[in-house]
Amino acid sequence: MFDAILIEKPEDGDQTVSLTQLEPDALPEGDVRVAVAYSTLNYKDALAITGRGPVVRKFPMVPGIDFAGTVIESSHPDFSEGDRVVLNGWGVGETHWGGLAGEARVKGDWLIPLPDGIGMNQAMAIGTAGYTAMLCVMALERHGVTPDAGPVAVTGAAGGVGSVATAILSGLGYEVAAVTGRESETDYLKGLGASEIVSRDEFTGKVRPLAKERWAAGIDVAGSTVLANLLSQVRYRGTVAACGLAAGMDLPTSVAPFILRGVTLAGVDSVMVPKPERIEAWTRLGTDLDLAKLDALSVELPLSQVIETAPRFLDGEVRGRIVVPVAP
Ligand code: NDP
Repeated sequence: MFDAILIEKPEDGDQTVSLTQLEPDALPEGDVRVAVAYSTLNYKDALAITGRGPVVRKFPMVPGIDFAGTVIESSHPDFSEGDRVVLNGWGVGETHWGGLAGEARVKGDWLIPLPDGIGMNQAMAIGTAGYTAMLCVMALERHGVTPDAGPVAVTGAAGGVGSVATAILSGLGYEVAAVTGRESETDYLKGLGASEIVSRDEFTGKVRPLAKERWAAGIDVAGSTVLANLLSQVRYRGTVAACGLAAGMDLPTSVAPFILRGVTLAGVDSVMVPKPERIEAWTRLGTDLDLAKLDALSVELPLSQVIETAPRFLDGEVRGRIVVPVAP
């Protein structure tokens, strides 16, 4: 038996969430069974657990969109017992049971061998948020953004994606402008390498088609008015990598930044990214992120406290990353 968080929903009622015990036989189909060492609490997991967003597509569901662990048994040619693996996305925690449980059974094609040098707790301090931050940095690079280009604005900087993006960019030599609604996190963000702290208020006012050119590029986790204002403040031929919707799903902008300034809006999805790009992202996290910074940006939360913490997460009260040790 192992501990697991389980979301259930009767056909005619509201969902319920509990910490329970499951047998390995209950696990869904897959060719690799993993002893989960660490999972995390991501924004999407908080939506799933609280039911505030339509994340879970199948009930009952074990949430947890990512995990790191050790292979217990495998019929997949790439993995054998004892291998250290990491998983992000692929609908895990949404349509297939996820990482907030002592064991998981998944498709081996979804797993990435954990690079040497990254501990399992560090892999989850990075988690899907940090891996998405790396995908955002890679998207900026693909569009020619270089460290000497000028300041890069990172929105939601004190959150999971934003914290890791700030640490990666500063480590690579970029000048990072950390955009936050929490002035109280100034020291934290400077510690991660931000050179400037910018109030979120500067991105929530009326959106003008074009505003003063301030940023060489941006990484945005917020969407809505925040992203629209960011786009209108980006310099000629700059790029914004957009991955989130913390402020909203809409985008109240015009085509002006695109057609008059040649700005690129690069969408970043982490869930269905092809495997070679995932391997590249994880390899680069091992080399380009100062893992020593993970201690500052992550806290551990026992599995028994995940359910009660989820609403606080969505209320923006959580800083950085939440790592959940799962193994007993
Ligand atoms: P967090 O909750 O850790 O961080 C979000 C941050 O956004 C908050 O900490 C806060 O930062 C800021 N924020 C909160 N509310 C607002 C608001 N109304 N307006 C502007 N900023 C706000 O979440 P994550 O970092 O884990 O995820 C961020 C977003 O990215 C989420 O929408 C998530 O769903 C998405 N995401 C998408 C992925 C993909 O594959 N595309 C993968 C991973 C995440 P501060 O206090 O510093 O302002």
